[in-house]
Amino acid sequence: MATRIGIIYCERIQDASCVGCAKCYKSVNENTFAFEDQGDVRVVFKCGCGDCPGLVIPRVDLQMTVLDSLNVGVDLLYFGTCVQKATKLMNCPMNVEGVTTVLEEKFGVPVHMGTHDY
Ligand code: SF4
Ligand code: SF4
Repeated sequence: MATRIGIIYCERIQDASCVGCAKCYKSVNENTFAFEDQGDVRVVFKCGCGDCPGLVIPRVDLQMTVLDSLNVGVDLLYFGTCVQKATKLMNCPMNVEGVTTVLEEKFGVPVHMGTHDY
């Protein structure tokens, strides 16, 4: 069975629905970087961080509710490389460590940072 992943992106870096940045799709489809050696990987949702200061949790909660109603599970969550860049380069105000802990405890899935290295 494919590994089902959700990706959280930076509202300030990506274009609407990531149309301006196809890198996550490329990395999933080519099974590279974060998804390397994970075998079959499917993106089951992408959602924005909610803009600064990063009100991520209610947005992921809503995604999970919708996915649950569709009988679609999630195995892993990723912050996109855009969030990684925002935290390193843009003084991102999100409490990434705190959000990660809450997401992992609330939804019972591991959360990773970064989706591709290009
Ligand atoms: S790094 Fe991924 S999630 Fe972020 S803008 Fe690019 S494609 Fe979207
Ligand atoms: S909180 Fe961080 S990840 Fe979200 S829009 Fe602001 S800079 Fe980007």
